Amino acid sequence: MVKKVPIYFSIDFEDFFFDTCRNIGCKKPGSKLKALEVFYEKINEISKIYCGSKKFTFFVTGIVAKNSPDLIRQIHSDGHEIASHYNYHDRISLQDRDELGRNLDECIEIIEKIIGRKPLGFRAPFFGIEKNNHWAYEEIAKRFKYDSSYRTTESLDSLNRTNLIFKRKQLHEFYIYGKPILRNLFSMRTGGTYLRLFPSNRIISTLLESYEKGHHPLLYVHPYDILKNQEFRVPWTLMNELSFIPRSLFWIRQFQWTKLGHSQAENKLITILKFFEHQGPMKLLLRNR
Ligand SMILES: [Zn+2]
Repeated sequence: MVKKVPIYFSIDFEDFFFDTCRNIGCKKPGSKLKALEVFYEKINEISKIYCGSKKFTFFVTGIVAKNSPDLIRQIHSDGHEIASHYNYHDRISLQDRDELGRNLDECIEIIEKIIGRKPLGFRAPFFGIEKNNHWAYEEIAKRFKYDSSYRTTESLDSLNRTNLIFKRKQLHEFYIYGKPILRNLFSMRTGGTYLRLFPSNRIISTLLESYEKGHHPLLYVHPYDILKNQEFRVPWTLMNELSFIPRSLFWIRQFQWTKLGHSQAENKLITILKFFEHQGPMKLLLRNR
């Protein structure tokens, strides 16, 4: 039998409803914990049926952990890895070192209180750390063993030769590989919106290319990618902090995030998982180093 290519499947475990409400200035953003529970049940079944019960890594925002400690405890006790997806779903490159440090510490503390240990891994919301934000990686390196935020189109060899930030900081980086498309106009990544909008064979070929370029291929989803009934959509009435035009634009954009490509996303995910061999939580990668 031909050996399948190894991949690591992970979940960016965030509450899109809460994050959106907060971003548009709602005074009291609510949360969609029931939807997160439904998603978890579904993804835990996928682990059992299609991944030989191998566990996943959940990059959890501090606010999700704070709002749903029982669910996080459950995920942890089922054997999955709890890592950090920052405190709130904020873009780190728009913040400064102090704000980053405070938020990292708060998220770590929330997670540690729930599961009794500090998370080993970190992934920035939106993979939102620019290449020259070395200060951000310095702060991450003080607190985590590994990071998985750095977007690249390069091979691991060429990164190891030219990109010394992670070596200097003793931080293991698991790169988010993107395949350059349309003369580098954008790069095709291996999860999230790309999973919803493109056929599964495009994701498969990008994961294979990532492997050929020396990376650990990383497949990822968010709860709002997989649930089909717009569970995380913010209703018009809650957008009253916005004036009419931004409110309307936001209303329309939400369909991209909560409606576009969702009907097939779960099937595509399963097709991809069958094609590859999921290895387990990403913290296992630290052993091979
Ligand atoms: Zn995220």
